Amino acid sequence: MKFYISVDMEGIAGILFKEQIYRGEMFYEESRRLLTDEVNAVVEALAQSGATEVVVKDAHGSGFNLLYGSLHPAATLAAGALPLANRFPGLDETFAGALLIGYHAMAGTRDAILEHTFSYADILELALNGEPIGEIGIDALLFGRSGVPVVFVSGDDKTCAEAQRQLGAVFTYETKRATGRHSGLLKAPKRVLAEIGDAVKEAVNRRGACRPYSLPGPYDMRIEYTSTNLADARALESDGVRRVGGRALALRDDNLPRLLARTFS
Ligand SMILES: [Zn+2]
Repeated sequence: MKFYISVDMEGIAGILFKEQIYRGEMFYEESRRLLTDEVNAVVEALAQSGATEVVVKDAHGSGFNLLYGSLHPAATLAAGALPLANRFPGLDETFAGALLIGYHAMAGTRDAILEHTFSYADILELALNGEPIGEIGIDALLFGRSGVPVVFVSGDDKTCAEAQRQLGAVFTYETKRATGRHSGLLKAPKRVLAEIGDAVKEAVNRRGACRPYSLPGPYDMRIEYTSTNLADARALESDGVRRVGGRALALRDDNLPRLLARTFS
């Protein structure tokens, strides 16, 4: 039984500020420890649940945030920056489920810690087939293409709510309750480490209720940038792109990875 973990940083217990999540910033090294401990607790729970292989994809920023030397021995690390279209290396239909750890709510969500969609600076909103979508939805679609259901999502309360709204049957675990973009009620790391493993085990037991996520194609992607000049640059660069607003472009494709490549490359 194989599991694929995608791990972001914003939803990890104790993380509130950008100074905690960027390399070279004052609190970044402490955050790497929080991140690694939380991921290791998840890997340990999967191992105890009978997992034979656990791939951990470091999906935040540079793709190298986990403390590699402290990684749980049952895990294999997929590290390094990859284009969105090839976000989960090694993923295929042999995985029993995917877990999104340390995730965050989509850009524009009220009272959600470090909410954004792929880029803090550039993207105001992403919509697929007319509905706003964030990283939870996009990543669930990518896992779904390989027939792999997302069985577990962790992050703040808005992240958990978004996952349940988007995916339906999915088990979630709240690491903190957000009261603003940079404020919240934070569970102590030791409590999170004690609780998250039990939550993962329950998700593994109940994974039969989770279905691979899919949306009917062809896909219509609408991307609203934070400024008109970002849309100007994209509209010149690629074919088949419609300018649908001062800051917005629209693209259509029946292949999701290709659509993501066209949207973000
Ligand atoms: Zn991130």
